Amino acid sequence: MNLIEKISKNRSVLENRLRELLAKPVFLIEADAFALPCGCHGMTINTRGLQVDDLEIFEEHITKYFKETSLELEVEPSFLFARLIPGTPELASLNSRVLCDRCYMDFARGSGKKPRPDIYILNLVRRE
Ligand SMILES: [Zn+2]
Repeated sequence: MNLIEKISKNRSVLENRLRELLAKPVFLIEADAFALPCGCHGMTINTRGLQVDDLEIFEEHITKYFKETSLELEVEPSFLFARLIPGTPELASLNSRVLCDRCYMDFARGSGKKPRPDIYILNLVRRE
C-alpha cells in the first residue's frame, strides 16, 4: 500500500470508529500529511461534526483511536491535539505532529490542555 492509499484507508477507519463511539454523524473531510520548513511534520485530519464536549467526555477513547491512526501512518504520536474553530465549540481538525525543538519549546511552555484558546491537547510527551 502506498502512502496515499494508507491515508485514505485510515481516514475511513477512524471516521467509522468515531461515528460508532459518538453515535452521531462525524465527517473526516480531509486527511493530509505535512512537513513544515521548521522541521515539524505529521498529519492533519479536518473534521465536521465533532465538538469540544465530545473530546471532554470521550477523551480517552478518541485519543486511543487517534494514536492508533497516527501509528498506522508512521507518525510518532508524541503530540496529539485538536484545533478548534475560534469562538465556537466546533473542532476544525485533529492533528498529530512531531515537533521540531523550537516548536516543542513553544508548546511545552504552556501548561494544561489549552495552552491557546484554539488548541486542545490530547497527548504531549514531555522531553527530558
Ligand atoms: Zn516546528
